[in-house]
Amino acid sequence: MSEVDLLISNVNLASMIETADGQPMADYGTMSNTSMGIKGGKIHSFYPPAATLPTATTHIDGNGGWITPGLIDCHTHLVWGGNRAREFEWRLQGISYEEISRRGGGIASTVKATREASDEELKTAAQQRLNSLMAEGVTCVEIKSGYGLSLQHETRLLRIARELGNKNAVAVQTTLLAAHALPPEFSDKDSYIDEICEHIIPSIAELKLADAVDVFCEGIGFSTQQCQRVFSVAKAYNLAIKGHVEQLSDLKGSLLVAKNAGLSADHIEYLQAQDVPALKSAGTVAVLLPGAFYALKEQQLPPIAALREHAVPMAVATDLNPGTSPQASLRLAMNQACVLFGLTPQESLAGVTRDAAKALGLGHCKGQLAVGFDADLVLWDIGHPSELCYGVNLCQPREVFYLGRRR
Ligand SMILES: [Zn+2]
Repeated sequence: MSEVDLLISNVNLASMIETADGQPMADYGTMSNTSMGIKGGKIHSFYPPAATLPTATTHIDGNGGWITPGLIDCHTHLVWGGNRAREFEWRLQGISYEEISRRGGGIASTVKATREASDEELKTAAQQRLNSLMAEGVTCVEIKSGYGLSLQHETRLLRIARELGNKNAVAVQTTLLAAHALPPEFSDKDSYIDEICEHIIPSIAELKLADAVDVFCEGIGFSTQQCQRVFSVAKAYNLAIKGHVEQLSDLKGSLLVAKNAGLSADHIEYLQAQDVPALKSAGTVAVLLPGAFYALKEQQLPPIAALREHAVPMAVATDLNPGTSPQASLRLAMNQACVLFGLTPQESLAGVTRDAAKALGLGHCKGQLAVGFDADLVLWDIGHPSELCYGVNLCQPREVFYLGRRR
């Protein structure tokens, strides 16, 4: 019997590991000219250049390439019906928001199209978006509901998300985002929050369809008081907490997420530097979404210097959605995080591996090349990991491994 299931020799590893006190290693945590052994779907062992290699069921010559942890997209809304391309066109023709809204544009149009779509239509469209992410080396993706806005339809979207995880060689984490917008059946936000707290969260928790609960905390979304009600019920059902916060204004939603020991505060362009330490103390990850910043042509930059100074983990994700970030490319988001937000390529790669794993509560098993971690790996034919952020569509993975298996 072989000592390991899979041996990949003659590679450089961008391990993205941390020091014992939780600081990122310098220079991508690189291990040069190494071999790695995989067993039972986990990273089993590393071998320096002159070491005796173990026997292996499968042996791959890495040919001097690089291995990174599998990429993790920790914020997507990838199950939806219809699209908003016409609305995009109208906007560029100078048609007003009022007129677009009158023509049925905006989030309400996606809710309507999603409710009207059959399960098959939703699955087919979502699968295509997931295929695009997987082709780039994504091995773990978070999928939010939020275009159903009723118990029946939120349940349907989360079931489809779970099914995508069962059908594909990719880990799927699901998040209930019922508090995304006001559905047409409700005229006041507090009554809809009652519905979320009294019916939607308890039922979704009972069905075990969500790993976390998210909110849109914004003037055009829900207030901090309304979001706190959602968080309190989520916690009572042992669901993790996330928030769309400080995207368009500073309502102190990040502080609310931190106070509730949330996994992540997402968007945060309007987060004030003085509120950053609260994220650090709570262990809350800052999730940067440069695709939405780009699509909305926003000007307000997230407080990157303060996040760095306080060593808050910064994740990077696509925010893949039909309205404000129609972008099924995490690799593009990595480039945008560097170009638009000034992240270094190392920070950007950490943002889609180690820190993205933390944003999903998976920091102990995914996102780093370390013994005992899941063997989710990407093998790249590149000369240096900075190439992964520097260009757009210049290089694709040579091989992707999910839980130690070639995909
Ligand atoms: Zn989002």
